[in-house]
Amino acid sequence: MLRGLLLFGALFASACARPSPPRAPARAPDVIVITVDTLRADRVGAYGYASARTATIDALARRGVRFANAITPQPRTTPALASMWTGLSPHRHGAREVLFPRRAGTTLAEVLAARGYATRAVSANRAASAETNLDTGFERFELRTGEDASVVTAVARELLDAPPEAPLLLWAHYLDPHAPYRAPDAAAAPETPACAAIQAEGRRAEMQTNRGGHSEAALPDCSRAYDAEIAWVDAQIATLLDALRAAGRLKRAFVVFTSDHGEGLGERGLWYEHGPNVHASNLDVPLSIGGPGIAGGGVVEVPVSLIDLAPTLLELLEVPPSERPTDVDGESVVPWLRGERAEPRRVVAEAADALIPEFAETLIAGHPTTGYCAHGATFALCWRSPREPATLHERASDPDHRADVSAAHPEVYDALTLVRARWAPRGTREHAVSDGRYKLVHRPRLEGGYARALYDRASDPGETRDVAEAEPAIADRLEAALEAWERQLPGRDPIALSPQQEEALRALGYIR
Ligand SMILES: [Zn+2]
Repeated sequence: MLRGLLLFGALFASACARPSPPRAPARAPDVIVITVDTLRADRVGAYGYASARTATIDALARRGVRFANAITPQPRTTPALASMWTGLSPHRHGAREVLFPRRAGTTLAEVLAARGYATRAVSANRAASAETNLDTGFERFELRTGEDASVVTAVARELLDAPPEAPLLLWAHYLDPHAPYRAPDAAAAPETPACAAIQAEGRRAEMQTNRGGHSEAALPDCSRAYDAEIAWVDAQIATLLDALRAAGRLKRAFVVFTSDHGEGLGERGLWYEHGPNVHASNLDVPLSIGGPGIAGGGVVEVPVSLIDLAPTLLELLEVPPSERPTDVDGESVVPWLRGERAEPRRVVAEAADALIPEFAETLIAGHPTTGYCAHGATFALCWRSPREPATLHERASDPDHRADVSAAHPEVYDALTLVRARWAPRGTREHAVSDGRYKLVHRPRLEGGYARALYDRASDPGETRDVAEAEPAIADRLEAALEAWERQLPGRDPIALSPQQEEALRALGYIR
């Protein structure tokens, strides 16, 4: 299709040519990649959100193909965007947590720079910058940490001064919907005092763990404030697209729109944060690709991951296989995008860490260097540093972990020490595999190994009802695929428990 269009263009040009100097061959298509940090798919109009103010993002989805079931491979910025640019899973490119540097893989920007592209980027998030090796391949990379979307658009416009004869790769990464939710557009931003109050300095743990019910009480306000941020970034993207059009960079461009991950708005106990789980609120991202040879208005239902984006663009751009990175985890979805293939696909994802030790929904939460806890049902065993002994805390009455009750509960202390021995601080992550309709989740268990749950996204888009018992064959099939993927993950084997230790855990209800 693409070649056909180019050929037709060439014939048309020669038919009405007047004598003139020979023209340079048409440059390769431009590539515009627009990413918005922390944008849940279900808050975008094209994904069915009734209250959406996303006219520009929706128009991009109509101009190209919209992927109805697109996910991030890990719901944090650096792992997700490193995967998007390299086609590698986080455990292969090395950035398995936010601000960890990418250490492997060839980026799409490197490939296109070698083909003569002007490669330019602007990012408002230092988690996506030179600090994390996400600038690799960009001849110019501008970081505007924490700046709002109007600044990102202004810098992106300055980057359009690339030589007009060179094709352009432009990446603009907006940060706005990331917490705190404070849209800069005073005229359009709603009053959201309850959200402003919980977003005050020093209340992060309280805000994210719903301590005292404050997070839940602020949800209507925070939800409107989140939407206002999205509306603001949508308007700034419109300005950027106008500038690209005026610069002649939209006519034959592939335009990609997506996000790095979603945002928890209370689902599964995750408030105003993303990372610790593999459910729709965290994983589902909007994704559309438009450009030469892509019929507008299409919808692809098979699941895709951000790790598929680089291989997909390389095929759309007709980059010869010899110039493409080999041994990537992603796959080109061009055959599905063009309707040439319909067979099912599967995508996998892993959660990130729960970074604050108090985070209650996660077995091991916190950071290995700054403190973490192993959470039982009633107690949390916490390590402040490798040199100090752990302290035990009653979770409900002492959420800030102030009173050490180790002396009163030595058996709980020993049991949670064993849990910690089985699970490394970075090892207790949820994993998921999805075929688009069904999602199977592996959740780490106190006693080691994983509990499984199956969700039917068609009837239960919020993924709240486990149907593994009702659909064992589907669960088995997906679980086998997930286990095959898990065998690739780095990490140590858990320690073996003695019969006495097992009995101790069973007595405490940790093993059934
Ligand atoms: Zn992010």
